[in-house]
Amino acid sequence: MNPNQYLVPPGQKVSLGDINPDETRGDKATVKEENSVIQMRLAELQELLFAGHDRKLLIVLQGMDTSGKDGTIRHVMGGFNPQGTRVVSFGKPSQEELDHDYLWRVHRQMPRKGEVMVFNRSHYEDVLVVRVHELVPKSVWKKRYDQIRAFEQMLADEGTLILKFFLHISREEQRARLQARIDNPKKRWKFQHADLEERERWDDYHQAYEDAISRTSTEGAPWYIVPANQKWYRNYVVGATIAQVLEGLHLKYPKIDLPEIVVT
Ligand code: AMP
Ligand code: MG
Repeated sequence: MNPNQYLVPPGQKVSLGDINPDETRGDKATVKEENSVIQMRLAELQELLFAGHDRKLLIVLQGMDTSGKDGTIRHVMGGFNPQGTRVVSFGKPSQEELDHDYLWRVHRQMPRKGEVMVFNRSHYEDVLVVRVHELVPKSVWKKRYDQIRAFEQMLADEGTLILKFFLHISREEQRARLQARIDNPKKRWKFQHADLEERERWDDYHQAYEDAISRTSTEGAPWYIVPANQKWYRNYVVGATIAQVLEGLHLKYPKIDLPEIVVT
């Protein structure tokens, strides 16, 4: 697989209806094997990043409810050293967060040198749920695409690698996954009644996603649209993409000249 096939080129207008969430390449058993190899390599790359204490990696995960953000995090970070890696989930903003500008709560969570940061939802909610539910007037949210582009450009200029993934599932797949959350006692804790109301607004969300992705996929902070109906393929695409981008940095352990010290 060439991860770039899922990259949204800057300026391209996205139409989610034209992208097949069921798409896979290769057979499941082989891809799963390759997945474990990628997972091990990702762990090495994360250590190199940490040791180098220079670059920073931000991974943004977005998607409709049940699209597999949590599962993707488990897979991608499975081999990571907890030291040097963090995940933060962005839910409904607190009063303190609402009292600030919408980028305040995300800015303070940005990765520091050597760190990998995973955002489970992100500042994009401020042009998604906020737009769909009209939580702020259009005159406010419509300015946010440019603001987000400028914000991410600044982060990229300052050494942050930014990769943004939209986990693309079909409406039917969401139906099945929500039903499974209701039927399976082990999954019931994940079920929220509000998810059913959000599901009613599927088309509005897709429209908001199309606009957000089309307007904010840039060279420094690209979007990838990941076919996510098949979990094994979704994991593969996200893992392989991150690995490929990190390989491109040609990370090396820092060269440290030590005289011939003998530890006694
Ligand atoms: P979950 O991902 O299931 O934990 O749900 C988090 C919820 O928080 C989702 O319904 C999001 O739409 C909501 N959320 C996240 N960010 C915002 C925001 N900026 N404004 C309003 N709701 C948000
Ligand atoms: Mg939820």
